[in-house]
Amino acid sequence: MTKKWVYLSRNGKEAYAEVLGHEPSLAEMKEIFGGKGAGLVDMTAAGAPVPPSFTITTESCVAYMKTGEFPDGMWDQTLEALKDIEEQTGKKFGDPENPLLVSVRSGGRLSMPGMMDTVLNLGLNDETRVALAELTGNEWFSYDAYRRFITMFSDIVMGYDRLYFEEKLDELKEKEGVELDTEVSLEGLKGLVDAYEDMYRNRFGEDFPTDPYKQLDLSIKAVFDSWNAPRAVAYRDHEGIPHEWGTAVNVCTMVFGNMGSDSATGVAFSRSPSTGEHEYLYGEFLINAQGEDVVAGLRTPQQISLQGSREWAERQGISEEVRAKRFPSLEEAMPAAYQQFLDIVAMLEGNYRDMQDMEFTIERGTLWMLQTRTGKRTAAAHVRIAVDLTNEGVITKEEALMRVEPEHVEQLMRPAFDPEAVKTPIARGLNASPGAAVGQAVFTADRAMELATSGADVILVRPETAPDDVPGMMASKGVLTQKGGATSHAAVVARGNNLPCVAGCGEISVDVNRRQFIAPGGTVVREGDVISIDGYTGEVFSGAVPMIASQYDEQVDLITLLSWADGIRKLGIRTNADLPQDARRAVAFGAEGIGLCRTEHMFFDERARDAVVRMIIAETDEQREAALNDMLPIQEQDFEGVFEAMDGKPVIMRLIDPPMHEFLPNRDELTDELYTLKMEILANASNFEELDELRVKLDQTEKMLRIVEGMWEINPMMGLRGCRAGIMYKGLTEMQTRAYFQAACRCAKRGIDVHPEVMIPLVGVVAELEYERDKLEVVAAEVMREEGIEVPAIFGTMIEVPRAALTAGEIAKKAEFFSFGTNDLTQMTYGYSRDDAEGKFLLQYVERGILPVNPFQVLDEEGVGRLVDLCVKEGRAANPDLEVGICGEHGGDPQSIDFCHRVGLDYVSCSPFRVPVARLAAAQSAIRND
Ligand code: PEP
Ligand code: MG
Repeated sequence: MTKKWVYLSRNGKEAYAEVLGHEPSLAEMKEIFGGKGAGLVDMTAAGAPVPPSFTITTESCVAYMKTGEFPDGMWDQTLEALKDIEEQTGKKFGDPENPLLVSVRSGGRLSMPGMMDTVLNLGLNDETRVALAELTGNEWFSYDAYRRFITMFSDIVMGYDRLYFEEKLDELKEKEGVELDTEVSLEGLKGLVDAYEDMYRNRFGEDFPTDPYKQLDLSIKAVFDSWNAPRAVAYRDHEGIPHEWGTAVNVCTMVFGNMGSDSATGVAFSRSPSTGEHEYLYGEFLINAQGEDVVAGLRTPQQISLQGSREWAERQGISEEVRAKRFPSLEEAMPAAYQQFLDIVAMLEGNYRDMQDMEFTIERGTLWMLQTRTGKRTAAAHVRIAVDLTNEGVITKEEALMRVEPEHVEQLMRPAFDPEAVKTPIARGLNASPGAAVGQAVFTADRAMELATSGADVILVRPETAPDDVPGMMASKGVLTQKGGATSHAAVVARGNNLPCVAGCGEISVDVNRRQFIAPGGTVVREGDVISIDGYTGEVFSGAVPMIASQYDEQVDLITLLSWADGIRKLGIRTNADLPQDARRAVAFGAEGIGLCRTEHMFFDERARDAVVRMIIAETDEQREAALNDMLPIQEQDFEGVFEAMDGKPVIMRLIDPPMHEFLPNRDELTDELYTLKMEILANASNFEELDELRVKLDQTEKMLRIVEGMWEINPMMGLRGCRAGIMYKGLTEMQTRAYFQAACRCAKRGIDVHPEVMIPLVGVVAELEYERDKLEVVAAEVMREEGIEVPAIFGTMIEVPRAALTAGEIAKKAEFFSFGTNDLTQMTYGYSRDDAEGKFLLQYVERGILPVNPFQVLDEEGVGRLVDLCVKEGRAANPDLEVGICGEHGGDPQSIDFCHRVGLDYVSCSPFRVPVARLAAAQSAIRND
């Protein structure tokens, strides 16, 4: 039996079940029918009004890509399917009396908006056009359909750019003094079709193909070929979609939304793709139009529901009277079709258990569903929809948690414009994709990529966007368009890529040739001028508007979702916070403790720096002790603030761990200063008073330079840092321990529930740990005695040196906890400098495929991970109560968190802003792996 390449929508599911030997799942259907094809099959099966159609499988495309020919049997099966459609519709392909017209549309497994091609009105020629005119009683319509078909076929199938055809149409509109395509006269359209046919003949040396089968054959090939169009390839590279999947081709009976004022076409979302709300049906439509008109953004689309329409008009500053007259909603204009649509939407959402993005056409009052798919949406909408569907009982909490990507949470934690900032608004458009963006205005995709590559932040400003602009959009911080609605290309692509976008900003006039736009009031924004766009409100500002942190506590849906995550995850979530304000923020984000307090950061404070320098350069014990005494109260104060913020939660204080010279002046700067001082002394040879002063300075600078040179290390990251510094600098770690326990005891006395944990960094041999721990336990006990209160303290170590991991059994006998410092552990396992590698070769390694990812971002499971795994096992074997966590940067990376879950860590610790992401990622790991 020959392979089945073509499936009818009316029985596609059963036919495929026969091939598979079992009922296909939606995922299986999408694999072979593509998303669109699967939607057609499914909608038909569910009883929605779908025009008779069939799908040529993705496998056919894959076969075609190998040979450049249709696979054996595919064309015959296509003709058979076409016959079936003819029977269903009572029309005939190419029939001069009752012609069947079809659309030929691409549709991959995953949606690639606007990336591939579609041909509409196929089957038209001079003869069938006459029949169409007679059947519809509308000659104008028949010419309009034909001129659209010639344009699309020439552009997509033959590569004759549609711009040339649109230019001719624009000329005609200008000549006739009309604004809209629908206003062009019949005579004008007739002339236009003649002109198009001439253009085609002149370009290709033959007549426009009149044979509908030839049209179909060429169009199917063109759609297959569009899978490998450069923009589609670039999109797949960006989205990580495999190139070998191929696209299906859907051949669907044409229904017309441009048959007059009782016809319409549009797109709708069952819930708002921007916010996730579902008070009404979201979306846009146009009366007397074809699908391309809605997406192209040439006419201002109308809203589907009345409430949506009113809200839209208010945002646009359009009065209710004008709205009702010029831009009525579908609910008002075609109430019966609207009601039917509502029922279908409810049915489809119930079927797919997710927000649907639907295309529909109303032909002379009859509603037809052309497509349904799971809708792309913003990060905020992802969260809201997942939470709502769970509350509605449609999906489980686990499903909700798996549907939201950690990246969405990261998005929601990003900054927004400061509402208090003084802003200079210059225009307002549609809030098409939320988020705040600041950058230089650029007017072409190429320029956007060029400037972005050189590190500039840019905002792409276009009259409207087309698929060719996508690489430039991706390189930009945000997108601003003059034309187009909430479902325009710009809006859809921006939302799918979490890119802030203001679309349809009709108040500005974009001049791409002059690389500028003019805003109301005559403000001219030229290439390179900085603008800010607010995708939440649709506002455009000149200059850079300052940003503020996102308002986490106002994001109720996110808070709900993460509370579900907390109920499911096994990993604890701690934070890396050094100062009280960071700790407070992290607690608000859901942190359950501090996994790493880098105490050296407390010394970067101006108050402490001088004392630290004195401590380092001290020449006597007295000098050092005096400096340490000055440092102590500053640390203690910060520690108290941290304990207050973390009331009831553990706080890991890591003993100081910087290369000490970081606190001292730079060696080259000191050498320069010395030279300058010497020159000044020479120049002031006769001024004794000044000379004395300069000589004192010279002495001090020379001394400092000697110290800096004495401390200078060729490889400071492998030098005197971590516990080595604590061991070598007398009194330093004792002072830190004293400050820490004084803070803990004093807080405890004030009723704060403290859980101090002391962490000794960069241990490589167990003796280092013993040396430090013995010393510190004495101090801790001493402080508790002095303060007259006991606090429950534990001591542990970081695992950052491979030797420590390899001798975990020994180390665990002397530690109550391990915390993996995977920044250093990665550095030392690979032998890559964490400070230099990325700039020198590491990113190139990733680009050339030598490394799959940057191991400083995503934990390397095979190498570093193996050490971690071994260390956890041997550590716990030696000390079953050992608490084990991670505090390297990987603690906030979702993929690495999954690994941490699998090796059985107790917690991950990450920066405060990543805490919400980590909560979700940890829950997903539990769901995925357990
Ligand atoms: C680490 O090495 O992973 C770590 C957390 O310590 P730091 O980054 O401070 O060296
Ligand atoms: Mg470290």
